[in-house]
Amino acid sequence: MVMNIPFARPYITQEEIRAVTEVLKSGWLSMGEKTVMFERAFAEYIGSKYAVATNSCTSALFLSLKVLGIGRGDEVILPTFTFTATANTVVHCGAKPVFVDIDEKTYNIDPDSVEERITDNTKAIIVVHYAGQPADMRKIMKIAKTYGLKVIEDAAHAAGAKYENGKKVGALGNLTCFSFYATKPMTTGEGGMITLDDGYLADKLRILRLHGISKDAWKRYLENNSWYYEVIEAGYKCNPTDLASAIGLEQLRKLDWMNTRRKKIAEYYNEHLNDLDIILPYVRPKIESAYHLYPIRLVKYNRDKFINEMAKRGVGTSVHFMPLHLTRFYRKMFKYKKGDFPVAERVFRSIVSLPIYPQLTERHLEYVVRCVKEILKPR
Ligand SMILES: *Cc1c(COP(=O)(O)O)cnc(C)c1O
Repeated sequence: MVMNIPFARPYITQEEIRAVTEVLKSGWLSMGEKTVMFERAFAEYIGSKYAVATNSCTSALFLSLKVLGIGRGDEVILPTFTFTATANTVVHCGAKPVFVDIDEKTYNIDPDSVEERITDNTKAIIVVHYAGQPADMRKIMKIAKTYGLKVIEDAAHAAGAKYENGKKVGALGNLTCFSFYATKPMTTGEGGMITLDDGYLADKLRILRLHGISKDAWKRYLENNSWYYEVIEAGYKCNPTDLASAIGLEQLRKLDWMNTRRKKIAEYYNEHLNDLDIILPYVRPKIESAYHLYPIRLVKYNRDKFINEMAKRGVGTSVHFMPLHLTRFYRKMFKYKKGDFPVAERVFRSIVSLPIYPQLTERHLEYVVRCVKEILKPR
């Protein structure tokens, strides 16, 4: 019998439905009280002083670069092995994305390559916590300190993950950007968040995310419906709605449980797929991953053929990621070429992500494992 197991599915229950209905009935749909509550709850959960909600992680990354003053002539170092949004936002600021290779075990940014690419124009490093596994922040922060660079963390995969020191990702004081896109560890449909400890930057981010005006509608409403605001700069329109924030509050309550469920699934795969010619995901000791992805590397079987064979059996898979230096835009615009980052290229050729989300039951997992084994044949 063929089962139908999509690659990803958001975990939505009656609680989110009730929360959205409540907002719909309240008459306040755009950014207001629910967003303030969501920001407070998120900052408290992460252990950061501030949290600023946005309409996506892409917006969060863009605003973070902007608020740090990154622009024309500046260079930002980031891994080539990430989603295109990470690099696109650097381009949107007028700066140059400088790619570096990844570590072959964790698929995270290789700190040694970072140091090699630093120039007088380097202003910041964007670290991506791939698949939910925190990158080696001790090394990165040391490099940043030595060269006076800012660090932005792309934690799109890593809500609820923990560094070696036991703190949650987002609690190191850097600007850390989270995604609440539908497939991410927690979702609001579309949405994002920036956590940070710098109150001055937090205020600036709030202004930048909503037109550059001094007071949002909710603040004006609280101040007896005062219509007055000042335009401080030409800001952007990157705020979330209260509909999204209401979903976010419910998802945040479930986040630890959802991460534990995904961890259990990863353990199931680890146990049942260990007799095949594949490389299982490596998780460093001491850290806690959010297990957003379960990427395996096929040692002897063609990756694209594997994807087709899985699809025939009703199982969705995906590839994270095509290295950005191989994409048309980044090749043309910044003269990157094949061969520039051999580790990322090697990993990309063989990598495929299996389904991993809370609703997957033992029956689903048995089926996925059976399909993988049928295709790859145990040793
Ligand atoms: C999903 C993702 C983003 C973008 O998130 P959005 O909320 O969709 O803007 C950025 N970086 C990485 C690594 C991602 O996976």
